Amino acid sequence: LDTLSPRVAAMQPSATLAISGRAAALRREGRDVIALSAGEPDFPTPAPIVEAAHQALRDERFSYTPNPGIPELREAIAKKLQTENGLDVQAAQVVCSNGAKQSVAQAVLAICQPGDEVVIPAPYWVSYPEMARLAGATPVSVLATSEADYKLTPDQLADAITEQTRVLILNSPSNPTGAVYTPDELEGLAAVLREHPHVAIISDEIYEHVLFDADFASFAALDGMAERTCTVNGFSKAFAMTGWRLGYLAAPAWWSGAVAKIQSQLTSGPSSITQYASLAAFEMGPEVLEEMVGAFRQRRDAVLERLRAIDGVTCPTPEGAFYLFPDVSALYGRQTPDGAEIAGSVDFCTYLLEARDVALVPGEAFGNDAGVRISYATDLDTLMTACDRIEAGVVGLR
Ligand code: PLP
Repeated sequence: LDTLSPRVAAMQPSATLAISGRAAALRREGRDVIALSAGEPDFPTPAPIVEAAHQALRDERFSYTPNPGIPELREAIAKKLQTENGLDVQAAQVVCSNGAKQSVAQAVLAICQPGDEVVIPAPYWVSYPEMARLAGATPVSVLATSEADYKLTPDQLADAITEQTRVLILNSPSNPTGAVYTPDELEGLAAVLREHPHVAIISDEIYEHVLFDADFASFAALDGMAERTCTVNGFSKAFAMTGWRLGYLAAPAWWSGAVAKIQSQLTSGPSSITQYASLAAFEMGPEVLEEMVGAFRQRRDAVLERLRAIDGVTCPTPEGAFYLFPDVSALYGRQTPDGAEIAGSVDFCTYLLEARDVALVPGEAFGNDAGVRISYATDLDTLMTACDRIEAGVVGLR
């Protein structure tokens, strides 16, 4: 009776949720734990969006919406992708889902089958390999090191592609490293892909707006890439709307149509209230984003300075998102005051949490055991206290 599908057995539970769970348990014991493990902005959803949701309630927008989303929203998204990202897409190619997570999962499910390989640059967002496995495909992780600013090189991509490669998943700005590919670097990857016309691309651009000094480019805007790229984006990170659940993708019609078909049998369209509320995001000026991104930049700089002053810790400068991924591998092999050896990122994070009350996520979960992920989506004072604790923890190792 309780035999589960092999699909479930092949999946890893989320490490981010596991560490957050342990941090919450310690808090319940009365410990003053600082959790830098969450992946959501600590800002309120902008007021015009909240007001539009109230209006949608008063208007009794309570019915099912069309499966791929309401026409006004798909139009607004297509227009955004055309004007801001230079993509040649129509509203009919846009599918709105319950978060970008669902968008990526459905894009993978629509094209991958057993025997296929999914190329995923590491460190990667934890869900990508699991989505590949869910589709019965094989994730192929390619390590981009801190020396390479955590970015895949064209040579690495060329080496990773085989006859079985079905899709490459790109994520810029990146969770967990904050790395942003320059337009030239993306072009370098596109040049390799032009030699391999059987490979599709999923470009997860959910952190598009959380960008510091870098230029942003959409992969599908590069020459020849539109016909094989699925662009994913959403409202969670840019508009601090994680709980509202709205993401979307735009892809060539053969692909977006398949995604819509899957969605029609799984969930139907996302929440009607959220869809109507999100229309207001397209009416807002850039000030809301500027304030949030300005705060993230200040925190990034402050935490980076503190981390780099710690002996044994190195970290490239991330140009986007709200994560740092310091390389702490120089500390591996040292011992805690209790005599336990720090063999890798899990030991390091366990030590910091248990001995110093600060929760980070081990890099192992993201496919790079050399580092740990620090989310700086919290206020500066808390971040500085966390840095004190991390520093004291590292100094305590011998
Ligand atoms: N893609 C990346 C890289 C993410 O970090 C996240 C959230 O953490 C998502 C997609 C999913 O976002 P949502 O489902 O909230 O739209």
